[in-house]
Amino acid sequence: MTRVLRAAVDLGLRRRRWQQFFWTSCRQCSSGIIPNEKIRNIGISAHIDSGKTTLTERILFYTGRITQMHEVKGRDGVGAVMDSMELERQRGITIQSAATYTMWKDVNINIIDTPGHVDFTIEVERALRVLDGAVLVLCAVGGVQCQTMTVTRQMKRYNVPFLTFINKLDRVGSSPTRAVQQLRSKLKYNAAPIQIPIGLEGNFRGIIDLIEEKAMYFDGDFGQKFRYDEIPAEFRAEAADRRQELIECVANSDEQLGELFLEEKIPTVADLKLAIRRATLKKSFSPVLVGSALKNKGVQPLLDAVLEYLPNPSEVQNYAILNQEDSESKTKLLLNSVRDDSQPFVGLAFKLEAGQFGQLTYVRVYQGMLKKSQYIYNTRTGKRVRLQRLVRMHADMLEDVNEVYAGDICALFGIDCASGDTFCDKSNNQISMESIHIPDSVISVAMKPSDKNDLDKFSKGLNRFTREDPTFRVYFDDENKETIVSGMGELHLEIYAQRMEREYDCPCTMGKPKVAFRESIAAPVPFEYTHKKQSGGAGQYGKVIGVLEPLEPENYTKLEFKDQTMGTNVPQSFIPAVEKGFRNACEKGPLTGHKISGVRFILDDGAHHMVDSNEYSFIRAGEGALKQAMENATVRVLEPIMSVEIVAPNEFQGAVVAGINRRHGVITGQDGVEDYFTLYADVPLNDMFGYATELRSCTEGKGEYTMEYSRYRPCSSSTQEEIINKHLEATGRLPAKKSKAKG
Ligand code: GDP
Repeated sequence: MTRVLRAAVDLGLRRRRWQQFFWTSCRQCSSGIIPNEKIRNIGISAHIDSGKTTLTERILFYTGRITQMHEVKGRDGVGAVMDSMELERQRGITIQSAATYTMWKDVNINIIDTPGHVDFTIEVERALRVLDGAVLVLCAVGGVQCQTMTVTRQMKRYNVPFLTFINKLDRVGSSPTRAVQQLRSKLKYNAAPIQIPIGLEGNFRGIIDLIEEKAMYFDGDFGQKFRYDEIPAEFRAEAADRRQELIECVANSDEQLGELFLEEKIPTVADLKLAIRRATLKKSFSPVLVGSALKNKGVQPLLDAVLEYLPNPSEVQNYAILNQEDSESKTKLLLNSVRDDSQPFVGLAFKLEAGQFGQLTYVRVYQGMLKKSQYIYNTRTGKRVRLQRLVRMHADMLEDVNEVYAGDICALFGIDCASGDTFCDKSNNQISMESIHIPDSVISVAMKPSDKNDLDKFSKGLNRFTREDPTFRVYFDDENKETIVSGMGELHLEIYAQRMEREYDCPCTMGKPKVAFRESIAAPVPFEYTHKKQSGGAGQYGKVIGVLEPLEPENYTKLEFKDQTMGTNVPQSFIPAVEKGFRNACEKGPLTGHKISGVRFILDDGAHHMVDSNEYSFIRAGEGALKQAMENATVRVLEPIMSVEIVAPNEFQGAVVAGINRRHGVITGQDGVEDYFTLYADVPLNDMFGYATELRSCTEGKGEYTMEYSRYRPCSSSTQEEIINKHLEATGRLPAKKSKAKG
């Protein structure tokens, strides 16, 4: 064992020395700027447990960034390097994107490790937002799972081209063919293998490169000795067939290869590679590679494919928005991603992280360059900041750099901002990168420090978490005098409670998780409300007239305000006050105490008083009008619906379907491969509590499920009754009030 480790350390050290030499020579190249072609920004996205962390670690090992490899959650008790947080090590899942850069051959690769659990999709979205290409890791046994679909949907949203890596070919039951079929049938993606395995499961010995028509083997204790050989005779026929299939698939997506194909010409290796590259960049094809990260097979060719088929930063078009405040006139501005230091700087802070090194802000440079000691502007706050320190990150190490260019990902020290902020040179501070799509939070829980003396630490922690993660929200419930945190799922919130204890030494108690119901209305209701107060001194007067109407289902989580007033009955200067009053009053609905949403407040008319009207009076008038309208409306409660996907062996299908029906789920689809079925259903989040335990017991532990927020929908009358009663009980009011509820 010692001998083996020593060999690995030696290999790593040698690589590192070589690499430092290379880096120095690269930086000294004529212009001092690394050309675009020598950069890749990639993300590794996958379903949890597909082996993403293991793969990332292997990549870091073969590229010489680390000198040892560990099995994730392995017997040695040491977590993978990318899981830099202690908690992740324990849970074995990667929660925060850890950015790291490395170098393969002469190309710089920035890798963002993206989390796989759906509760943390904001991290995946952020990573995809700043990356130019991705590697989708699939487990050769599990294939395309629910989470994979979420991830690919996100890749589509952000236009990210990707390679597919089918991992774990050494596992019993692995089937790369099935995984490719699922890519086509479930994801509707044109994908074809560019490699096939030599043997499977315990027999998995090497990989055939279909393009070069060679066999590849990974010798040495750590697979570090990579060698080519002839394709074994028994695999030749299959390799030829699969190569032909590959050419046909690519020809469907690439015109040039399509023409060659129609003319029955045989493409050269170079033709084929270029066609695959074009089709991948066009997002109409995904090359599929195979391997086993754990058994050190297939990682080096995957790195070659990253260089060969994924875009460099100048091949991706990135836009910024001009004049962001005026949402009506958004002008898109194409950024110049060529590494040219004369361009004005534009960068996006896509991640904040406070860890062992202090407050770090990860930034992707989209245009121009950043230099140490330079001043930059936050376009949201207008604040100027000085870059005291610029670093490139490894998961648990950092390297100081003096400058970075368009296409680079770096981290800044001591910068005060929120994630999603844009930084610019002063000259163009009207620019903003598109903000990252932020999903609504669907679950909330009361949280407080177990020890009252820890309040300071508690608020420090909350402050930091909310700045790092926009899907983690905090507010203080004045009525019950408790802090409520909300997020994307139970696990999401649980993780923050644990981080509070670990990182801030502040153990917390959590209440029972509550679903974020909303109150809305079923039909338009008019309002006419006057706020009037005369108690000596200056009075208060404001009158508003209008209609409150429901929004369309896709806007159930939104609030809209529309000013339709003519003339000066409500002076223009007081309109924002009415809107403010309306929005304030929506914080708490009358029936359940949950937020009001999915309504449009239309202000038609009103009245003012020359002396007594002021901003405050109209805020109160807006609030009063909303309350009045809600009292007269048929209020309905909306609830979050989750898209649930369950995979389990066929024999448990009946039990699983019955369970979903019991939980008021609507089955939306069904699928099956071999002995397993997949059930797709829409289930109210409120009915999903405790499902993990139920599924485990009704499938003898063999079933698994994932869920993702889908939309809000009016809940059933029984659920509505139930939450109204709960609210009445909690607030000590008489149950008689529930008669207002719509049946
Ligand atoms: P992640 O959740 O996607 O980051 O997955 P991990 O890298 O943490 O791996 C999940 C589990 O799968 C760990 O126990 C790994 O040791 C194991 N694993 C990863 N890659 C392979 C592989 O190629 N073959 C096998 N058999 N197991 C693997």
